[in-house]
Amino acid sequence: MPCAYPRARMTDLEALIAGICPVVLRGDDAAGGPSALDALASDKSGWSGLPDLGARPRNTAEAAAVLRLANSVPFVVVPRGAGTGRVGGAVPERGGVVLDLMDMNRILEIDVREMIARVQPGVRLGHLQQECEAVGLFFPPDPASAKDCSVGGAVATCAGGLRGAKYGTMKHYVLGLEVVLPSGEVIRTGARTRKCVTGYDLTSLFVGSEGTLGVVTEITLRLIPKPDAAATLVAWYDDEAAAARGVAAALEVRAVPRALEFVDRRALSAVAAHFGRPEWKRHALLLVECDGTAASVAGELETIRRALESAGGGHVEIAAGPSDAETLWAARRGVSPAVTAMWPHRFSEDVCVPRRNFLEMLHDLHGIAAAHGLEALGFGHAGDGNIHASVLMQRGDDEERARAHRAVADVFRRALALGGTLSAEHGISISKREFLPLELTAPNIAAQVAIKRALDPNGILNPGKIFPGT
Ligand SMILES: Cc1cc2nc3c(=O)[nH]c(=O)nc-3n(C[C@H](O)[C@H](O)[C@H](O)COP(=O)(O)OP(=O)(O)OC[C@H]3O[C@@H](n4cnc5c(N)ncnc54)[C@H](O)[C@@H]3O)c2cc1C
Repeated sequence: MPCAYPRARMTDLEALIAGICPVVLRGDDAAGGPSALDALASDKSGWSGLPDLGARPRNTAEAAAVLRLANSVPFVVVPRGAGTGRVGGAVPERGGVVLDLMDMNRILEIDVREMIARVQPGVRLGHLQQECEAVGLFFPPDPASAKDCSVGGAVATCAGGLRGAKYGTMKHYVLGLEVVLPSGEVIRTGARTRKCVTGYDLTSLFVGSEGTLGVVTEITLRLIPKPDAAATLVAWYDDEAAAARGVAAALEVRAVPRALEFVDRRALSAVAAHFGRPEWKRHALLLVECDGTAASVAGELETIRRALESAGGGHVEIAAGPSDAETLWAARRGVSPAVTAMWPHRFSEDVCVPRRNFLEMLHDLHGIAAAHGLEALGFGHAGDGNIHASVLMQRGDDEERARAHRAVADVFRRALALGGTLSAEHGISISKREFLPLELTAPNIAAQVAIKRALDPNGILNPGKIFPGT
C-alpha cells in the first residue's frame, strides 16, 4: 500500500509531476509564509493532514497522467474540489498528492433545446445555477454551500441541499460522466439522452463515491425549465414543541414545497447573533418555499399556511417580496457557519430518517446528548427527514470528545432504529467510516470493497476513505 512519499526524494517526485502536470503546489517553508499545501490539508470536517504535493490539472490528459504515474511510483492521490466537504473526503490523511480540480472550471455548454449542461468539475455550483437561470433553465440541487462548492465535489458526494424535498439530489440530474479511473484510463459513462441502459449504470456508481473510484473530469447534467414563480413562507415559534407540530402539519398537506427547512432554538440563537438580528432570537423557525406557476405557488403556500395556523403556536407570514425571502434564505444558508462560530467544538452529523420520524429523531437527539452530559442542536431539511444533528462541546478536550463520540454513536443507532440512515448527503469518508457496520452488513461491505479493489488494485486513489481497509 503506498504511503507518504519519502521526503528525501521529494524533488524527484516534483520534477516527475511537473513534467506531466505543470501546475504543481509545494511547501514553501523557506519563505516563512503559509505553504500552498496548508490550503490543501483540510476541508470543513475538522480533519486534516498535510499532503506531500499538490497538482492542479488543466485538462483530463494531465489528470490521467498523474494517476498513471501514481501507480508506477507509487503514491496516493486525493481528488479535491473546493474543500467544503464535511467528512474529510478531500483530506490527505496519508499524505501523497492532492489533485486539485478547481482549474478545470469551464461550463462547456448549456444546450437549451435538449435542456442539458456539460461542465468541468471545478465549476462552482452556484455559478452553474445562475448561468442556467439566465437562459430560462433550472439546475435544482442546492446545497447550502452552493456558492462555494464545486460541481465535481457535489457529484462525488451526491450532494443534496435545500430543494431536495421536491427535486431530489445530484444523482437525479447526472446523465453522464467523463472519469479518469485509478489506472489513468479515461472512460465516459451514461449518455446525452434522457434514457440509457447500455451496460451497468456506472454513472450511478461514481456519483457519491467520494473520490475513491475515479476522478470526475466532465459532467453532463439534466436541467429543467426555470419555474415561473417562487415564494417563501416563514413561521416563527416561541415554543419549540409548537414548531415541531408545525413540521408535522406541513408534511401532511397535499402540497410539495421545494424546501421545508427547520432551525431549532440553539441554532437560531447562533444565527441571530451571527447576522446581528436579535429579533430572530426565537425558539424555532420553519422556512417553506414553493415554486411553479404564480397560481400554483399561491395555492400551495395558502394550503401550508392554513395547516401551520391550525397547528397553532407560531407566527406565520408570507415573505413580503424577493429581497425579504432572499434575506431569510441567506440566514438559512448561514446556519452552519453561525453555529460553528458559537460552538467551535462540535460533532456535526447528517442523519436521515423517514419524514414522519423527523420530530422523534430531533427529540431523541437532545435526550441522547443529555444522557452523555452534553447539549445538542438540530436543523435541516425537514422535508427530507434530514437532520443536521450537532453534539456540542464546551472545551473540546479529550475527555469531552470521547463522551461526544459516544453520543454520536447513539444518535446513529437511534436514526437506524427509526428506519433511517447514517448520512443523507455529506458522505462517510473519514468521519463516519467506523460506524458503517451499524448500517451495512458484512457481505454488503465486502461487495463494495471488491468494487474498490477491482478499479483501484494498487490502492492509490483516496485509500482508506469510506472503507478503512482499502
Ligand atoms: C456551510 C456548508 C453548508 C453545506 N451544506 C450542504 C448541503 O446543504 N447539502 C449537501 O449535500 N452538502 C452540504 N455541504 C457539504 C459540501 O459542501 C458538499 O458535500 C459539496 O458538494 C462538496 O463539494 P466540494 O467541491 O467542496 O468538494 P470537496 O470537499 O473538495 O471534496 C468532497 C469529496 O469529493 C471528492 N471530489 C471532489 N472533486 C472530485 C472530482 N472531480 N472527482 C472525484 N472526486 C472528487 C473528494 O475527494 C472528497 O471525497 C455543506 C458544507 C458547508 C461547509
